[in-house]
Amino acid sequence: MTASRKNVLVTGASSGIGEATARRLAAAGHRVLVGARRTGRLAALAKELRDAGGTVHHRELDVCDLGSFRAFAASALTEFGGIDVLVNNAGVMPLSPVADLRVDDWNRMIDVNLRGVLHGIAAVLPAMREQGGGQIINISSVSGHRVDPTAAVYSATKFAVAALSEGLRQESRDIRVTVVSPGFTHSELTHQGGNPDVRSAVRAAAEQLAIPASAIAEAIAFAVDQPADVDVNELVVRPTAQG
Ligand code: NDP
Repeated sequence: MTASRKNVLVTGASSGIGEATARRLAAAGHRVLVGARRTGRLAALAKELRDAGGTVHHRELDVCDLGSFRAFAASALTEFGGIDVLVNNAGVMPLSPVADLRVDDWNRMIDVNLRGVLHGIAAVLPAMREQGGGQIINISSVSGHRVDPTAAVYSATKFAVAALSEGLRQESRDIRVTVVSPGFTHSELTHQGGNPDVRSAVRAAAEQLAIPASAIAEAIAFAVDQPADVDVNELVVRPTAQG
């Protein structure tokens, strides 16, 4: 059991890194509220973790909808009485060359990966300010540090998350801001969307190299468990063999 039990919100917890993070933090004794659109998966996860002794609630969440995010945060305040950590993890990656002009995919990446993170900040910041502290962990990517063909828009959203996080960090004296940037990680990220040829190529590369989602959850848990005056600003976690 962890020394300091925190109230943690995890978005995109119905699969991949979000699910692994909920598992890791619940096992450490933190109270966890998990959100995503696939509520059946969330309910099963929450039940499994509660059966193992954790304090875990779930709630439907669409990060593109500010009202949905505000209701998600409000339910954490009701269930737990406060919000200590938000893990802004939900994301999508429908890759394609810019010349494909898949404008709907571009907009979806902006809506989920960037606007969703902003909605999360808007939903929790007032409660964190009022209680005099908190932590916002934004999941970026190695693609938030470098740009590759077919990932221009995805990278743009992740670079934006890095810029936003740095600005928020500079403006905050009591809120810890952390960016975690994964490399290839086993998840469902490459399962749908984008240019089908690009998707199969990236999926094949990911399957060869990827590290388990639990490796990213471990980095997130490390940042959460630091004392209030220690802000881990940035962690890049990728497979050793990733170029
Ligand atoms: P997954 O596809 O496994 O998980 C993505 C999660 O986001 C799902 O739980 C999905 O839930 C949720 N999500 C998508 N859209 C919404 C929405 N509108 N509202 C709420 N939740 C939503 O992929 P990962 O676990 O890999 O992705 C997690 C994060 O990690 C993303 O930000 C991604 O960009 C980042 N990342 C991943 C890497 C990797 O190699 N896997 C590498 C670098 C970064 P649901 O569909 O149920 O709503």
